[in-house]
Formats: sequence, structure tokens, C-alpha cells
Amino acid sequence: MDFRPTEEQTLLYDTARAFCEKEMIPHETLLEKTDHLPRELELDIRRKAIAVGLHACNMPESLGGAGLDCVSFTLVEKGLSRASRALAECVHRPSNLLAACQGEQIKHFVEPVIRGEKRECVAMTEPDAGSDLKSMKTRAVRDGSDWVINGTKHFISNAENSDFVVLFAATGEDETPAGRRKRISCFLIDLDAPGLEVAKGYDHMGHRGHPNNILRFDNVRVQDWQMVGGEGEGFKVVNEWLGPGRLTVAAVCQARAERAFEVAVDHAAQRKQFGQPIGRFQGIGFPLADMAIDLRLGDLLLMNTAWRVDQQFPNVAEDCAMAKVWCSEMLGRVADQSIQTCGGMGLMADLPLERIFRDARVERIWEGTSEIQRLIISRQLMRERGA
Ligand SMILES: Cc1cc2nc3c(=O)[nH]c(=O)nc-3n(C[C@H](O)[C@H](O)[C@H](O)COP(=O)(O)OP(=O)(O)OC[C@H]3O[C@@H](n4cnc5c(N)ncnc54)[C@H](O)[C@@H]3O)c2cc1C
Repeated sequence: MDFRPTEEQTLLYDTARAFCEKEMIPHETLLEKTDHLPRELELDIRRKAIAVGLHACNMPESLGGAGLDCVSFTLVEKGLSRASRALAECVHRPSNLLAACQGEQIKHFVEPVIRGEKRECVAMTEPDAGSDLKSMKTRAVRDGSDWVINGTKHFISNAENSDFVVLFAATGEDETPAGRRKRISCFLIDLDAPGLEVAKGYDHMGHRGHPNNILRFDNVRVQDWQMVGGEGEGFKVVNEWLGPGRLTVAAVCQARAERAFEVAVDHAAQRKQFGQPIGRFQGIGFPLADMAIDLRLGDLLLMNTAWRVDQQFPNVAEDCAMAKVWCSEMLGRVADQSIQTCGGMGLMADLPLERIFRDARVERIWEGTSEIQRLIISRQLMRERGA
């Protein structure tokens, strides 16, 4: 088995990582201190990313993107995601569910995203519908040739800095063998549409400069062409998108864990106590070895999963779930132990560790919690055995 990336893939990773070191990491302290990403900075990073071909590199070539395969895109994601989220996202990698768009949707929404003129947010979660998305209450009701939408979404990442929302709403109910099921459909809606309010979200423990918002829909009118896929095909769209989306979370976690580990190892080699580098004490050295093993496993699982996605293996949703669980939980362990390795300095903002530690926590929750990922994996294990 040859695990080496191709020359082109190595170049992509090196380009993304160098871009991150040069254009993003120097601004991290500003974001931590102000909890705000200046618009000019975002646009400047985006402009430079477009120039080097990193912007929208996950979008198909037919839509004007770079059409990267999953392995190549995962390497780019790893290179860029060493920086804090708000900065890493200045190089926009659009939701791959936009690849399902057609006709007028491409002209009005997708092409401007790929040109770097617009960006989207994705709204599924509601105050009463988190893991159980099928219980969502936001409704779209037919009115002539339009749909009229009412409801509330919360925790919506970066909506206040977005131009349109990819919204999931119930358009009816169906009788199924398992009982009545909501019919979920997907719409693209400009955020300045009449009746749509983008309200302030919650203050949270991590991700400075990367807000979340509450979206309120009060009789928001949309037209048929704004529906992605057919009516009731919202979950089909989501299922195609969520797996690779979860792999992206795994890549982000792997990148941040590697960065934390590098800080910890360097510190352990340089810091002397009792006359020798602290890394030579078993109490510090063995956890470093455990972190190195954790990281190697994370990288193997991440890249193998990306390869399986490219090879169109069956059941890649379970593979992506495994990668998300491992890498997000591993990031938590590595961030914690890296702080321990650095002692008091680990808690100080002079090192990136306390931020990586705070930012790590949400990775086990969003894009489906660790419990939901385990549910996906265990259900497949039972399904294979007819149980
Ligand atoms: C900062 C942030 C940004 C976010 N951004 C977005 C966004 O842009 N768009 C969007 O749509 N959503 C977004 N989310 C929402 C995120 O995806 C949800 O928080 C997540 O899916 C969990 O839903 P919940 O918080 O309502 O928890 P709940 O579903 O209430 O779960 C609470 C606990 O119960 C457990 N649980 C629930 N059901 C089961 C079960 N069947 N078996 C075992 N355990 C279970 C969960 O694992 C969890 O531990 C964001 C969340 C955060 C925190």
C-alpha cells in the first residue's frame, strides 16, 4: 500500500499551509482580543486566496470551482485549518450541497459564491430540533406559485456575514410504515428578503470573531426556483452533503491537534527543570508518545476515509462518522495534554493552546454530536447483521 500523496497533492498542502502561516495566523491575536473579524481583512484574505486558486476549490469545475477530489481537498483543509476558524473561513470552501443547484440557482447564488462575491450560511437547527432534525417546526406552505415560510432557526454560523441561507423547512407530512414523517425541503433565500430577521446569537466559549445567529422567518415569500432538489428531497440533499461535511470537521481537528502538539513537543524539548528538558521525564515524555500515536491514527483514518469517498465505497457516511468522532475527540485530548506539557504557560494567550482548547469543544457537538455519529456507526453494524 502506498500512502504517499502525489506531487500535486503535496504542492496543494504546502500552498495551503504556507498561505495559512502568512495570511491568517498573524491576525489571530487581533481576533481573540476583539472577537471581531474586520471586513477589509476578510476581503483581503479572500482576494489573495482567489489569486492562488484556493478559494472555492471544492466546487465542481463545471460550476467554476477547482473540482478537487476528496483527498486533495482534505489536504487543503488541513493546511488552512491550522488557523482559528474565523480566519480559516476567509478562504471560502462553500457547502458542497451547492453542487446540487440547478438553472437560475446557479446564476443567482452559486456563481457569485465561486467568484467570491457572496457567501452562504446553512440553517437546519432550531431551538426544539437539534439532533432530531426531523422534528423541525419551520414550515413552508404553498401559496399560488410561491412558498411562504414561518419559523425560527438558531445557532446559525456566520449568518450576519452571509448573503443567503440554505434553509431546511417542512413542506408537509407523509404517511410511512414508521408513522407520520415530515417532508423536509431545501430552499435558497437571500438574507435581505422581506420578513427575514438575522438576530444576534449567543456568546460562546470559543471561535472568537465567528458569530452564530438566530434567524426568524415571518411570512417570508420564496419562489419555486429557489427550492433545491424536489419537494421533500431536503434530507437527500443533506445526506449527500453531511458525510463529506463531517470529514471536513475531522480535517480541521487533525490540523489543530498537529499544531498544538508541535507547540508542546518544542516546549518539552526546550524547557528545563531539575537540570534537564522536561520531555525526558517519563511523566511528560510518555503522554507526548501517546499524542504522537493519536495523531498518526487520526491522519490515517482521515486520509483513508477521503480516499474511500473518492473511490465511491458504499457506506462512506459511517466512515466519515468514524473520522469525525476520532479526530474531534483526539483534538480534545491533545489540546488538554499540550497545555499540561507547557504548565502555566499553556494557559497564557502567548501560546495558541488555550484558544485551541476552547475552540476544540464544539467540534464534538456541531455537524452531529459524537453520540449521533456513534448511532450512525452502530446502526450500520446492526443493519449488516439484519438486526
Ligand atoms: C457554535 C455552534 C454553531 C453551529 N452552527 C450551525 C449552523 O451553522 N447551522 C445549523 O443548522 N446548526 C448549527 N449548529 C447546531 C449543531 O449542529 C447542534 O448544536 C447539534 O446538532 C446538536 O443539537 P443540540 O445542540 O440541539 O443538542 P441536542 O440534540 O439537544 O442534544 C443534547 C445531547 O443529547 C444527545 N442526544 C440527542 N439525541 C440522542 C440520541 N438519539 N442518542 C444519544 N444521544 C443523543 C446529544 O448527543 C447531546 O449530547 C451549531 C451549533 C453550535 C454550538
